[in-house]
Parts: sequence; C-alpha cells; structure tokens
Amino acid sequence: MIKIKWLHGILIIVLLLTACQSKVPTSTNNNSVHLGEETESSSEHKVEEENEQKEIEQEESEQEENEENREHVGDEETDTEISETEEIESQIGPEDFLAHGVNEIGHIMVVMYHGIKDNPPYHRTKDDFIKDLTYMYDNGYRLISMSDYLNQTIDVEIGMTPIVLTFDDGLSSTFSLIEEGGKLLVNPESAIGLIEAFSKEHPDFGKTATLFIHDTKANFRGEGSAFERLSWLIDHGYEIGNHSATHADLSKLDQQALIKEIGQVDELLLELEMDYDMSAITYPYGKRPNETLINNLIETTYKGIGIDYSVGFREGPSFILRPPIHQKFSPFNAPRVRGSEGEVQDMWWFFNHYDNDHPELKYVSDGREDVVVVPQTYLEDVNADKYDTLILEVY
Ligand SMILES: [Zn+2]
Repeated sequence: MIKIKWLHGILIIVLLLTACQSKVPTSTNNNSVHLGEETESSSEHKVEEENEQKEIEQEESEQEENEENREHVGDEETDTEISETEEIESQIGPEDFLAHGVNEIGHIMVVMYHGIKDNPPYHRTKDDFIKDLTYMYDNGYRLISMSDYLNQTIDVEIGMTPIVLTFDDGLSSTFSLIEEGGKLLVNPESAIGLIEAFSKEHPDFGKTATLFIHDTKANFRGEGSAFERLSWLIDHGYEIGNHSATHADLSKLDQQALIKEIGQVDELLLELEMDYDMSAITYPYGKRPNETLINNLIETTYKGIGIDYSVGFREGPSFILRPPIHQKFSPFNAPRVRGSEGEVQDMWWFFNHYDNDHPELKYVSDGREDVVVVPQTYLEDVNADKYDTLILEVY
C-alpha cells in the first residue's frame, strides 16, 4: 500500500513495506561488484582496495549530483497526479529533516576493535579508546546494537548518527570479570568497563557492543565461569557473535569444515545452557568463505543444533559503509572499519571523511524507530522488500 501526501509544498510518500520477513536478509545481494572476489593475494587485495576507493569517489560525485537535483524536486513534483491521499499524523516534518540533514540510507560505521593494549593498529590503549568514545559522543555518534543495526530499528535522537562497536577474539582486555566483596564486577580497565564508565557520565551515548568469541571456555579469561561471563554481557545489553571455533582461515575450508568451525561456537553456548542465538559472524583475518558455502550458514544444523546466520563481516578497512537497508548492502560481505587512526579508511580517517568532507554521506536519524526517512533522490537505494514493519517517508 502506498500513501502519498503533500506537506508544506514537498511530496511525502509513505510506503508500507509489506514484502517479506521481519528478520534480517537471508540472501546475498549481487549488486556489489566486489561480491565473490576473494582477496587471496596482496596484489589482488590492492586492486580491490583501489576499486573501493574509486567507488567511494564515484559515490561522492553522485552525491553531489543528487544534491543539485534535490533543489528542483519540489517544483517538478507539483504537477504529479496524486491518486490517493491520506493524512499522516506526524510530529516532525520536512523542515526538521532538512534542518538536521536526516538521511536514513546513509553510511553507518561498524567498528572493529580487539583489546585494550599498546599494540596498534588492532588494539587501542586505554587513553586512545576513551579518546575514540569522546570524539563519537561530541560529534553526534550514538551507540546502537548489532540487532538494531540489522533490523533497522534505530531509535537514536533526531540528527544523531548510529555507530556499532564490535570486538573480536574474546580477549580479557576487551572484557573480564573481577571479584569484589563476593560479587562479580566488570573489570574497569577492560574495554567494556570503559564503555560502562563512559555511558554513566553520558547516559544518552548508549551502552552496547557485540563481542565475537571462539568455542573455548577461556573467552574473556578472568573471574567467573564461562556462563557467568557471557551472561553478564547479555544481561547488561551487550551481544555475542561468532568468530569461528579456532580463529580459522574460513576461505580454505570445505562445507563440512566450515559448518564445524561455525557450529562449534553454537555448541559451546548450548553446553553452557545459554538460551542465546548468534546471528553475526566476523571472519578471522577478514578471509571470507566461498560464496556458495556462506549461503549454507543461513539455515543449517551442526550435530543437530540449528544454526542460522544473517550477516558476516569483513575485517576493516573494507568497503563503503552502507547500511543493511541499502540495495547494495551485501550481508555476507559486510564492511567494518578498524578502530584505529592514521591509515586510509581506518576509523579516524572516516571521522574526517564524514564530519569534515562529506557529512551528507552519513546516516542521520529522524529519531523514530519505526520510520525510515530518506531524501527523494535516494529512494531507489532503499531495499524496501527486506523489512515488513517499517514506514518509509521521502522528502
Ligand atoms: Zn580475530
């Protein structure tokens, strides 16, 4: 069903997205020119990076064209015949969207961190990690969970840009428990301890992250049992994902070995009697499994345990950071940025890229969880079939 309404001289289209599942996508999107091109050799990798850089540049110039076109949208649409009109009850409208630069098809950074130690570029020192969080907060970034990212249920305030934090490898400097007075508490020096403290000072920043683990009870070594550690995370709003059983190079595995590498982590959670379904994978070394084999992870079983993944992330720096609702989002070739600075396409490079050079490329929220607002010129980028409960507004 399509509802159309004129509001303040600007055409508003409301599409009720009734197509398919409420869950995240279960098939890959072939629009990405990079799909299926694994980067085995360093020269191929370099070519891919160059192509991605070109695509970033191309997108920037398309963006500029779109900006120019937008100025005329209102005029052109005034003669359009409208077959169905309906009142839209809304507290906010196009003036607010324009004022805040709302763009809910814009880029969202998924940041790849590891632990808190002085070993760049994969780790961050405590001071640098706090510097990262402070920059994000001061520049309008707000933490969202992996689930909200995948399901497009983003409810950060209007004008804010969501950001997803991920941590690989199950390290104790990422998260561990300490015992104090007979109680298990988060280690305040761990990354999660630092997020907890930061969010206490800045409650509107949000407080969540996704931690990717192996199939060992030694994940997040410290006090407490494996069950207590993982339960603490889940009880405090964090999410768990799969980084393979043994940190394997998944690109070298056949179907059986791949399902075993992934399924053993699901088996661990079952052994621990945790009622928790992981839906995200991060590929060790950023090496993607064979494209056909990835599709077998969408819905399969390992030792009778149902496993069902909907997204797989590369290792940053990688690709344009389109959100899951974008037509060109490729769920099993999903991009992340390395939580680091200095290198092209590391997180601090993107901070400069978005906040100084191209703010129009960023995802900027309209503040409403169930409504997706996009500028008119981006309408065709929205993969409307993916989500069945969202309302789309165009301005
Ligand atoms: Zn790793």
